Amino acid sequence: MALNIYNTLTRQKEEFKPLQAGKVGMYVCGMTVYDFCHMGHARVMVSFDVIVRYLRHIGYDVNYIRNITDIDDKIINRAAENGEEFNVLVDRMVNAMNEDFGKLNVLTPNSEPKATDHIQGIISMVQTLIEKGFAYAATNGDVYYRVRKFEGYGKLSGKILEELESGARIEVTEEKEDPLDFVLWKSAKPEEPSWTSPWGEGRPGWHIECSAMSTCCLGNNFDIHGGGPDLKFPHHENEIAQSEAATGEQYANTWMHAGALRIDGEKMSKSLGNFFTIRDVLKEYDAEVIRFFLASVQYRSEINYSQAGLQDAQSKLDRLYNSLKGCNLGVAVDKNDADVSAFIDQFKSAMNDDFNTPKAIAVMFDLVSHINKAEGASKDKLASLLKTFADVLGCLQTNPEDYFKQGVDVDEAYIQEMIEKRVQAKKDKDFALADKIRHDLDEQGIELQDSREGTTWVKK
Ligand code: ZN
Repeated sequence: MALNIYNTLTRQKEEFKPLQAGKVGMYVCGMTVYDFCHMGHARVMVSFDVIVRYLRHIGYDVNYIRNITDIDDKIINRAAENGEEFNVLVDRMVNAMNEDFGKLNVLTPNSEPKATDHIQGIISMVQTLIEKGFAYAATNGDVYYRVRKFEGYGKLSGKILEELESGARIEVTEEKEDPLDFVLWKSAKPEEPSWTSPWGEGRPGWHIECSAMSTCCLGNNFDIHGGGPDLKFPHHENEIAQSEAATGEQYANTWMHAGALRIDGEKMSKSLGNFFTIRDVLKEYDAEVIRFFLASVQYRSEINYSQAGLQDAQSKLDRLYNSLKGCNLGVAVDKNDADVSAFIDQFKSAMNDDFNTPKAIAVMFDLVSHINKAEGASKDKLASLLKTFADVLGCLQTNPEDYFKQGVDVDEAYIQEMIEKRVQAKKDKDFALADKIRHDLDEQGIELQDSREGTTWVKK
C-alpha cells in the first residue's frame, strides 16, 4: 500500500519515493520568534507533527528539521520597542514556543537550526550566487537576487513574472536592478545587530537562511519541504530560486503546505479582534482537545476555529477515552490477527491517501463501537489498537481514568470519602442521604457512575 502525498510543486498526489530507502529528510519552516505563537502556527505545527509521526509509524527513519528565525526586522523592531537586546527577546520567545508546543504534544524536531548559527553558510551561498551571476551587491551594501536570471521562477506558486511586475506589493528601491529582485543580505543600520561579510556589516535576508540551513542539514536535494500556507510565495519560491541556482541540483522533491486557519469563517487578524495565541486558547480548553481539533482536519484543508468545533472535539475525545476505560492498553497487536487486520488496513489506507486524518478518525470510531461491545482479552486487544492509532495523532496520551478527572477543583480524598459514605447510606437503606450525596457532588461538577465493580467518578 503506497503512501501518496500531494506535491504543491507538481499540483498532484504522487507516490512518495524517498531518496534513500527507509529514510526521510524533511525541512519545515519554523517560527520567527518575536511574539507568542498563535493558532495559525499551532495548525501548521500539529499538521507536520502528525505527518512525521505517521512516517515513523510506517517505519521511516525521519530526520525532521525545523528552523528558528532568530534575526529579522520584526525581531529587531520588537526588541527596540521593549528596550532589550534582540537575543534576550529571542530566548524568551523560544522558551514560550517550546512550552506551547510541548502542551500541544508537538514532538521536538531532530534539529532546530537558528539563522544566527549559520551566518557563514549563508554568506558562502550568497557568494556562490554572485559568482554565478544570480546575485549582485548594491552600492549600499545590500545583496539582491536577480529573479529574471532564474528560468524556473514561479514554478511552485504558479506566478508569472508579468503579473508580479504589475503587482503593487513589489518594493521599488534605487538599489535594485529590477523591482522583482529580492534581498539576500541586508546592510545594517547603526545600532542594529550585524555580522561581518564581504559586503560590509549586515544580516541575512529571511529566504536565504532557509536555503542555507536546509542544505546544511539535509543536503542539496532532499525529500520533503513543508510550511504554512502563506509561505508558498514568495518565501518558498525564493528558496527554490536560491538553492537551485547555487547548487545546480533540484532542491526539495516534495513540497507540502498546510491549509489556513480561519476564525468563525473569517481570516484571523489583530485588526478584526479575532486573534488568538495558543496561550489564549489553552486558558479555556484542554491542550489535548485543541490538539485533537487541529488533527481532525486534513492538513491541506482550511480549518475553521470555532467554539462549536472545539466542543465537538471535546465530546469526540470523551467518547474515545470512554472506550478505553478499564482496559489493559499494553496488549501487543498482531497485524495478521483477523480481529484487527481490517482496521489496520483501513487506517493505513486513509493515512496513505495524503494523510487523510478525518477518514482515519472515522476508522477509530468504528473501532470504538467494537470495543464497546467486546469483553475481556478481546476488548483489551481492540483498545490497545485504538491507542496505537491515537499515538499517530498524538492523542489519548493520558490514562483514561485520569482524563475524566481533569479540571476538577474538589479534593479527590473528599470525593472518595463521600462515595464510601453513600455506599454505607445505601446499606443502611437511608436513600435520602445517598441521593443527597450524589446531588451535592453533582453540584460541584462530579458525576458518580455505579457499576457492578463499584462506584467511580468523572468530571461532568
Ligand atoms: Zn523558511
